[in-house]
Amino acid sequence: MKPSIVPEQELCIIAAGLRIRQQISLQMTYTIIDISQPVSSSTACFPGDTPFSRQVTLRLEEGATVNLTSFTMSPHVGTHADAPSHIQGHLEDNHGMVSGMPLLPYIGLCAVLDVSPLADGITKQHFEKAADGFPELPPRVVFKTQKNLRFDVWEGKYAHFTVELIEALRACGIIMAGLDTPSVDHIASKDLEVHHAMMKAGFSWLENLDLTKADQGIYFLSAAPLKLTELEASPVRAVLIKDLV
Ligand SMILES: [Zn+2]
Repeated sequence: MKPSIVPEQELCIIAAGLRIRQQISLQMTYTIIDISQPVSSSTACFPGDTPFSRQVTLRLEEGATVNLTSFTMSPHVGTHADAPSHIQGHLEDNHGMVSGMPLLPYIGLCAVLDVSPLADGITKQHFEKAADGFPELPPRVVFKTQKNLRFDVWEGKYAHFTVELIEALRACGIIMAGLDTPSVDHIASKDLEVHHAMMKAGFSWLENLDLTKADQGIYFLSAAPLKLTELEASPVRAVLIKDLV
């Protein structure tokens, strides 16, 4: 099995990369790739879920001192992280809420694995073929399954993870896996076997990424969930930083 970069090694690798670049040029710039989906009242969401809607509290044009809004939406609209309480326990006891998620899985080195175009289960074979070009894998991977995305159209047939994939990722030391579709499970799944397999294996995961502008490669990922203490998921602003390592 492919050797993996463990989280403890990441800082050394990043620091070494930065040192090399410093020797080349003192004028360093980052290329930041936004891999978040836009959220608006036209953003498609899972059938039966609560879409985004905006309420206006105050308007400058009506004499108020500020424009002020509030909004309603499921935390699963757009790019987001699920917490354990999404698939187990009681919402009232505040255990497993998204505020308690460890942040390390969402911040650090991450490989984009291109398996596009795919609208089916992502298998161990898909993973191994895509990972073949990497001498080592970082502890985070995101799967690009689509070359183009329509944020306003609900697509019922989408790529999703499989239990065999999760086992293969775990064997490589992966701690976070994300994808550019609405769920890690098949739309018709009632037992959510992939969600449960990921939680049992100690994984964190990201859903609804937009990887259309990210080519296969290794990046620095930043996609921390908000510190929402009463919710089972959270929107994230996910970005990849290019050429940092
Ligand atoms: Zn979700």
